[in-house]
Amino acid sequence: MKMGLCSFCLKSGILCQKCLTKLKSGEISELDLRIARLLLSLEEKYPSLQNVYFHKAFDADRTLALVVGPGDVPRLLGYGGKIIRALGEETGKSVRVLEHGVDDRKFLEDLFAPLNIMTINTIWLPDGSTETRVILRRRRGGHSSFDVKALKEIASRVRNITLRVEFAD
Ligand SMILES: [Zn+2]
Repeated sequence: MKMGLCSFCLKSGILCQKCLTKLKSGEISELDLRIARLLLSLEEKYPSLQNVYFHKAFDADRTLALVVGPGDVPRLLGYGGKIIRALGEETGKSVRVLEHGVDDRKFLEDLFAPLNIMTINTIWLPDGSTETRVILRRRRGGHSSFDVKALKEIASRVRNITLRVEFAD
């Protein structure tokens, strides 16, 4: 696993001056560090993690979102979902994996997977700001591990978009 800290600091847990500055400036958060170490500890068991670029982690309530490099999503979702399950067990959160540098549609698809998105459109508000309306296809059996409020907060923090989420049959 690679990230914006040197691998020596990541492995040792003792940060050099340069990495410490990133932590103090907020470029890297305590949560990022914690998740990075977790990913690192899983590398031996799941070698595809070695090639993953980990950008950042965001948490909202009981949802945790990991932002990883282009093409890295399948590396995390592989092994029959065992990496995600391990992360979920360690953190006690429901884990989403998002890809860095994609367009809004792909971002929203990853955010709401496995639900299907029927429509995405932009709503202009009288004050000139916008909201992104997403209509999801309702699934049989409900969405038990699905916290729409937390996902909206994550969308706002990761992409600076305000979501309006609706469900349709
Ligand atoms: Zn360092």
